[in-house]
Amino acid sequence: MNTQRLSFIDLDSSATTPVSPGVLDAMMPFFREHYGNPSSPYPLGEQAKEAVAQARGHLAQFLSAEPREILFTSGGTESNQTAVRGALSARPDRKEILVSAIEHSSILGLKPFLEKEGYKVSILPPTPYGRIDPETVKAAISENTALVCVMWVNNETGAIQPVGEILDVAHQAGALVHTDAVAATGKIPIDLSRIRVDSLSLSGHKIYGPKGIGALFLRKGETFSSLMPGSQERKRRGGTENVPGIVGLGQAALEAKEYLETCIEKTTLLRDHLEESLMDCFPFVRRNGPRESFLRAPHMTNLGFLGIAAEKLLLDLVREGIYVSMGSACSSGSIEPSHVLTAMGQTREEALSALRFSLGRSATARDIDRTTTILSGILREKRRAS
Ligand code: PMP
Repeated sequence: MNTQRLSFIDLDSSATTPVSPGVLDAMMPFFREHYGNPSSPYPLGEQAKEAVAQARGHLAQFLSAEPREILFTSGGTESNQTAVRGALSARPDRKEILVSAIEHSSILGLKPFLEKEGYKVSILPPTPYGRIDPETVKAAISENTALVCVMWVNNETGAIQPVGEILDVAHQAGALVHTDAVAATGKIPIDLSRIRVDSLSLSGHKIYGPKGIGALFLRKGETFSSLMPGSQERKRRGGTENVPGIVGLGQAALEAKEYLETCIEKTTLLRDHLEESLMDCFPFVRRNGPRESFLRAPHMTNLGFLGIAAEKLLLDLVREGIYVSMGSACSSGSIEPSHVLTAMGQTREEALSALRFSLGRSATARDIDRTTTILSGILREKRRAS
């Protein structure tokens, strides 16, 4: 990773990441000399087709899947919506879908549309620590359930969900399982030969790949209906392939594998240091999400600063060049409390006191020390003022 110093400290890597130098290098020839259309029957097209196949192989290997189970899409949102639509068409006699209350808006936002089409959409509440208990799924599932949607890692708290156990409950009832792994990819290992979900989404821009590219894993053998019929992607998605984006995603998967194997430990230590420095000094700072490290994505912490408006803290930090987030980036344009924290049972005021810190690959001990020093000063000042 390029270690060039930035003029700001980015602790919001769950919102997006820069394209890594290796990814950019891999992509560049496909904008210029290898600009072919993979459908063209001459060398320029064949080169592009070969590059797409190679990237598909990288991604399949990264997930322990088969290349033909990987469908390239425009990102996490399209992957999620395609998976839901595909599952409903694969189980036409079933009219209910179970969706966890902590899903991303690209899934929860489908609720009114599905209801208008006659589906029942049941929302599964999490525990106060932000996990979906498999018993909750067991109590809600029926022979009318077509699909259960539970994300692998929650993008606001970092809570790892018991996807394998939920899968057992769902499959016993004949329902399919879709998991949004956008926040899990490159942060914890994903082995789809062991955890046999029916579909999984991931997104390029969260793993140092470009924006506007993602993938949907669709387990072979499942019926599938396309959102965008056409001849590409084995007739599962129409439109000329985004060859540079696909190549970039393939390279990002290779680099994510290496990072997981070699560097994630360092990120975890920095995250723990950040968390402990604040929680040890200020009794009103509490962690939102599970405490046990094996239940948490290693790069993220969500902290509640009880009695203090997180929006003000966020602006104070921005003035110091430190970027964090209030809940998910997609909802931070408004000051509505996070739907994840309120589903976990927090009051509006509690939820509006929370900040998410997510550490990227370039985070350093210096960044964390500076952040804790500045934030501690702000907190002391706010306490004195109140
Ligand atoms: N799922 C989760 C958990 C996300 O965080 C996001 C992006 N914020 C998405 C899905 C959507 O991904 P994309 O931006 O690639 O559409």
